[in-house]
Amino acid sequence: MDIAKNIKRLKLLALEMFFPAVCLNCVKYLHSWEEKDNLLCNNCFNSIEISEIIHRPDPSILLFSVGSYSNTPMRELIHNLKFNLNLRTQKPIEKLVKNYIKKSHLEKIISRENSIIIPIPLHKKRLKKRGFNQAEIIADILGKELGILVEKRLLERVKNTAPQIEMDGKKAREENIKGCFTTHSGVMINHNTARISELIIVDDIYTSGSTILEAAKTLNRKLKPAKIIGFTLAKA
Ligand SMILES: [Zn+2]
Repeated sequence: MDIAKNIKRLKLLALEMFFPAVCLNCVKYLHSWEEKDNLLCNNCFNSIEISEIIHRPDPSILLFSVGSYSNTPMRELIHNLKFNLNLRTQKPIEKLVKNYIKKSHLEKIISRENSIIIPIPLHKKRLKKRGFNQAEIIADILGKELGILVEKRLLERVKNTAPQIEMDGKKAREENIKGCFTTHSGVMINHNTARISELIIVDDIYTSGSTILEAAKTLNRKLKPAKIIGFTLAKA
């Protein structure tokens, strides 16, 4: 083990004397480095079931979700990433995405030919407040694992809407998100836009599908891909 790694672990040990690491979900003390990396005890982390079901919320979209939002450890990880500004959550999310790619049909379905990944953007006001976009973090992890380019500038959020999860019912969510996105005309993506054949739209949670469908509608006008795939960490 190299010296830098030892120093980092010593610092973590000193920190833990004052702030011992506990599981995000059940608040039990975390013992192993693996548990500390996952921010969850092994029991809670292993209770996140990888979903193998492919959803088709709309005839034009195939939706892949790693797990269910009703699973509390999964929900805690997403909340920790979004609301506690905790970028350490990237590690367990990376593990879940890797497991998902191994177990699901995602790799068999994507062609990787002229494919791009587009994360759902935040409005610039919310981005400034939060400091990062959680959908971009998930998109980067997925892009790295699949070897697909992530394009973050093409889709823009022009309306600062209330979070979809706070909306009551499908109709309210559709109204909330309508006309929310636009494509940035100044962005020249590396691919020839006329040749994009596969679009993977990434978000953290899939609630009613309104956000991904609205983004797909906006992107479809510019790119006209043959296939649109949705990818989220959790499905509500
Ligand atoms: Zn736990």
